[in-house]
Amino acid sequence: MCAVPVDGNMAVMIKKIGVIGSGQMGNGIAHVVALAGFNVVLNDVSLDRLKSAMATINGNLSRQVAKKIITEDARKQALDRISSADSIDELADCDLVIESAVEKEEVKRKIFHDICAVLKPEAIIASNTSSISITRLAASTDRPERFIGIHFMNPVPVMELVELIRGIATDDATFDAAKEFVTRLGKQIAVSEDFPAFIVNRILLPMINEAIYTLYEGVGNVEAIDKAMKLGAHHPMGPLELADFIGLDTCLSIMQVLHEGLADSKYRPCPLLVKYVEAGWLGRKTHRGFYDYRGDKPVPTR
Ligand code: NAD
Repeated sequence: MCAVPVDGNMAVMIKKIGVIGSGQMGNGIAHVVALAGFNVVLNDVSLDRLKSAMATINGNLSRQVAKKIITEDARKQALDRISSADSIDELADCDLVIESAVEKEEVKRKIFHDICAVLKPEAIIASNTSSISITRLAASTDRPERFIGIHFMNPVPVMELVELIRGIATDDATFDAAKEFVTRLGKQIAVSEDFPAFIVNRILLPMINEAIYTLYEGVGNVEAIDKAMKLGAHHPMGPLELADFIGLDTCLSIMQVLHEGLADSKYRPCPLLVKYVEAGWLGRKTHRGFYDYRGDKPVPTR
């Protein structure tokens, strides 16, 4: 639990966290938030996604027990703290809601419209968006001063960093509350200004997009490009393997936000990335992307 001053004199105890979107990021956020001792309500429009998110969290917590990172008791307690909800109304009494649904601005705006109608006025809303303007998202809520970007990295239980992004209206109390909350999760903070894709993805995604151009132009095949960057630049994953891990739809959305937001042709999404997304080959989450994951081991698709 953390006590945070909101509005200068109104102290809000952050005890209950709502997470909207139970995909790969949402389930990771619910996992670390519950392990840190907070109660969590995990919401999704898809009941199937909610069920598989709970199974994923259980599996990932068990893996942490096997690796002796957490105790069996901690695993049980964390699971007990997470409930799932297919209606956003069940998040009404949350003190902080973290939106982590698909990277589509119109979807996020609709979510904020719906959640503001039920959420108590002093509650804070955060978005885990990878690239969309926090100021613009905040403007679609009834509380831009209590809105902030809390951008987790994938996989959430493993990665140390969280970016914090203030919109133009975010007040100091909300920023301080977010800082304290993220610190309670045991994560490090990098503060980014509110520009398209913030810091990590502003640097990472053009590199991935360039790797896809390198494939598109036939400079190298999937295997050669990933091998080159792993052994030649000591990256732990090749850029195409990483793109599959992030999700090719998310990669494309981020490139589109950079392209439109900065109006610079150097951010033009590679047509081959567009084609993979049009095919529904979104990477690991659909079992096919730059690699085919349906067999025993990943096989390059080009
Ligand atoms: P994902 O495709 O794995 O999951 C998205 C989830 O949102 C799905 O379960 C979907 O059913 C759900 N959803 C869609 N509309 C909804 C609605 N109206 N209400 C509730 N749930 C809804 O995507 P992801 O990779 O988990 O990405 C989620 C967010 O996190 C995006 O904004 C993305 O940019 C951001 N993010 C992604 C990464 C990454 O590496 N994938 C890293 C950091 C941040």
